[in-house]
Amino acid sequence: MTLHPLDEPMPPVDAVEIRRLLLFCGSRSGADPRHARTAAAIGGLVAGRGVTLIYGGGSLGLMGEAGRAALAAGGAVEGVMPRFLKDMEVAEPLCRDMAVVGSLHARKALMFERADAVLALPGGLGTLDELVEILSWRHLRLHSKPVWLLGDNGFWAPFLALMDHMLGEGFVGPNCRSVCEQLASVDALAARLPAA
Ligand code: AMP
Repeated sequence: MTLHPLDEPMPPVDAVEIRRLLLFCGSRSGADPRHARTAAAIGGLVAGRGVTLIYGGGSLGLMGEAGRAALAAGGAVEGVMPRFLKDMEVAEPLCRDMAVVGSLHARKALMFERADAVLALPGGLGTLDELVEILSWRHLRLHSKPVWLLGDNGFWAPFLALMDHMLGEGFVGPNCRSVCEQLASVDALAARLPAA
């Protein structure tokens, strides 16, 4: 049986210092209050380490928690908001570095281009869309940026189980599981960022 081209060994992730972190997360806060606390902790952590936070620029849900916490801690925060969503998602008024782009595609592309690494927190369809696209780009060897998942209450377990299911059903190869890394805690993220 011939090897599928995507089953060749994956190149390792970039070994660069993370200066700019792209955060994907929900525009809602979720049912479990731990999600909002974690999002705020991450905003504070990133700012404290001198890492620029890149996110969608919304003021609602976990996006708002993380963005405001980073700003409150004096961090650099860059929002990227599609024009049509500015009102619907209530662009964060405290964020002064807000790029306004023409589409969701442009948002995703610009945010990704600016980042050294990607972190996905719990979210809904938007978060999933953004995460899966970046993972599929990694799988196709279009980039080697680290992609991390972090979520309280085992949030990402069903997503990882779906990947295992696709593997079991023969629709992806074993590399599929190595396109992202699940982080157990905010401390695990802290260990991957530059020292304070
Ligand atoms: P959600 O996880 O659904 O709350 O969405 C989180 C963020 O992702 C929100 O800012 C959404 O506007 C955004 N979003 C939704 N769909 C897409 C998409 N197709 N591409 C990029 N961003 C999206």
